[in-house]
Amino acid sequence: MSRRTLIIGGGIVGLAVARELLRRDPARSVVLLEKEDEVGRHQSTHNSGVLHAGLYYQPGSLKARLAVSGVRLMTAFCREHGIAHEICGKVVVATSAAELPALDRLWDRGQRNGLRGLRRLNPDELREIEPHAAGVAAVHVPEEGIVDYAGVCAAQRREVESAGGDVRTGAKASSIRETAGGWVVGTEAGEWEADFLINCAGLFSDRVAELAGIPRTVRIVPFRGEYFLLRPEAQRLVRHLIYPVPDARFPFLGVHFTRMIGGGVEAGPNAVLALAREGYTWGDVSIRDLADALTFPGLWRFMARYPALCSHEIVRSLSRALGSPSNPFIGSSRRSPPPISRRAAPGCGRRPCTSTARSSRTSGWSSGPVRCTC
Ligand SMILES: Cc1cc2nc3c(=O)[nH]c(=O)nc-3n(C[C@H](O)[C@H](O)[C@H](O)COP(=O)(O)OP(=O)(O)OC[C@H]3O[C@@H](n4cnc5c(N)ncnc54)[C@H](O)[C@@H]3O)c2cc1C
Repeated sequence: MSRRTLIIGGGIVGLAVARELLRRDPARSVVLLEKEDEVGRHQSTHNSGVLHAGLYYQPGSLKARLAVSGVRLMTAFCREHGIAHEICGKVVVATSAAELPALDRLWDRGQRNGLRGLRRLNPDELREIEPHAAGVAAVHVPEEGIVDYAGVCAAQRREVESAGGDVRTGAKASSIRETAGGWVVGTEAGEWEADFLINCAGLFSDRVAELAGIPRTVRIVPFRGEYFLLRPEAQRLVRHLIYPVPDARFPFLGVHFTRMIGGGVEAGPNAVLALAREGYTWGDVSIRDLADALTFPGLWRFMARYPALCSHEIVRSLSRALGSPSNPFIGSSRRSPPPISRRAAPGCGRRPCTSTARSSRTSGWSSGPVRCTC
């Protein structure tokens, strides 16, 4: 019997789930509903574009196992589909003796997680491979790289469709009803019935779960991550991905230099409370999203735990939005272009283009407006 499966959300996760279901059971009927006019419009194409190898995660944990095998599978997928990627490697740099115990822990985790070619570097060895980074020690992770995640989403979609899957864009799931035998999902484009329903709605996964009658005990609170873009003349200073040793006081990896697959080097992100889940500038405000965040006790616990992050970063972000930085290596106080902005901004048809692309990093993160680089 063919089992009808409906997936809500056409980001990298929803597409990967659809692809895998069809690989395991080609007779299965799979429909994927995506609210935007194209797949991968949100986090999946507005991230740092890094292929992470699993350095940070607890050895033996699911996250560690998935990251270590995932980077290898993703690299193979990119090769098979001709998707732009580069295994450029990463260095995690300790800049003071105080950071050495944390660097040692990463080194230990990386080895226990089975990362290939991992090396511990002294200052001279670091300078040899990354001449403009200075530190007291570093860890080199050669398996990491950068990738065009927009290309990954497009290839995933092609595979799903050629395996018989149905990808419906412009189909926002706005109601979900449970029936005797399964589910009925309502969209403006019609209703879909399914035996199984899979929620891959990313930043809206809590609301989609609620539509299906599941109490929202967890809630998405969006944070925006903002990035600087190095000036062209400074980009040669960065050969690998360059990361700091994470500061255990914060739940992030730290501000890093990221080479991008389409060219350019970003420095970031910070993390500021976003005023809309898919809002990528200070001007994007959703009263519903804001009310949702502000009435969630978890946000207040988070702010109490990380007061510097929440207050200082918001003030810094606002002041940067109003002025420009004086650092000679930094090109723009506006955010750096994520992969999707290298394509035409919505509404752009002109050459040279003067359109402003909305680029974002939300999930907790996002970035602001960038010049369209189409
Ligand atoms: C700033 C930042 C940097 C990151 N950097 C990296 C990195 O370098 N490397 C890495 O591996 N990961 C990175 N990540 C994480 C990675 O981007 C995410 O884990 C991943 O993209 C999540 O994919 P997703 O499909 O769950 O979500 P999304 O890509 O957000 O997809 C969810 C989809 O659901 C759709 N949707 C929502 N509601 C509905 C509805 N009601 N009906 C129909 N469709 C709906 C949305 O339109 C969207 O397309 C980063 C994340 C951020 C925020």
